[in-house]
Amino acid sequence: MEITESTIKKILTRSESGYLLNADGRGPICSHSMQPYQGCAFGNALCGVGCYVRFNTYVTKGREWGSFLEARTNAAQSYRDCYRTERQWAQKTKGGMSIFCSSSTDPFIPQEDRFGVTKSLLEAMLDLPPDLLILQTHTHRVTKYVDLYSELQNKCKLRFQVSIETDRNNLPGLPPHASPIADRLDACQLLRQRGHFVVVMVAPLLPIDDPNAFFQKVASVADAVVIDHFIIGDGSTDGKNTKRTDLPAAMALVNPESTSLKYRDRMVEIARRYMPGRVGVSKDGFAGFYE
Ligand code: SF4
Repeated sequence: MEITESTIKKILTRSESGYLLNADGRGPICSHSMQPYQGCAFGNALCGVGCYVRFNTYVTKGREWGSFLEARTNAAQSYRDCYRTERQWAQKTKGGMSIFCSSSTDPFIPQEDRFGVTKSLLEAMLDLPPDLLILQTHTHRVTKYVDLYSELQNKCKLRFQVSIETDRNNLPGLPPHASPIADRLDACQLLRQRGHFVVVMVAPLLPIDDPNAFFQKVASVADAVVIDHFIIGDGSTDGKNTKRTDLPAAMALVNPESTSLKYRDRMVEIARRYMPGRVGVSKDGFAGFYE
């Protein structure tokens, strides 16, 4: 992977289109998205196989997904520079400033140890907080800044979204997870013990060997769960983008039913047994609606 440093004109991107904007008219999910890095160090992990960003030519600029990472070293300064304008815009048009971090990278990739871009943004938010910050991740490394989160929680609403798409440690022929499942569950538990709102994102849903045990465990470490399926959740019609990857074939080898939307509905039914009122489905779930 080629790792470089870069600068960004404006770190906050307004949600004027795409899945962050609306969930069947019940949104918006967030007024802004924020990417501390361009590219993702987990692009060659299991989540990277079906990652919808690999088809985003604006991000990849023709490069192979997982082959590049740009650390946006001026991100915190950019946040400070654009905060006032973006906050006013969000208050006027979206009813408040809510930031999704991140939709096309992971804020807690191992290279964060070296560059600290996410940390610098969190520190900037202590001075200039949004109304809501959603931290979305695929790794247990999210617990790295627990002390910062405690401070930040006094200034704005915080929601942690930790992706755990299956209870399986592997899918045939695909690379390993970016972070062990047990470690991610432990991270959820720790964040929750610290008083944070934690959502497990089963998105995209992969085959689950023991759904009862899985959702029972999730119920004990998270406030809510969101279940989505690539057929309607990958930003293309009928999961066309994901069907171009090796993911559906690997899923079918484990459980042929798992590549259909019926499978999502069955998993939702099981999840609701263990987490009544705490299960979000697809877009509504992303928007924070749980039933
Ligand atoms: S962590 Fe997120 S952005 Fe990175 S490869 Fe995985 S799914 Fe894609």
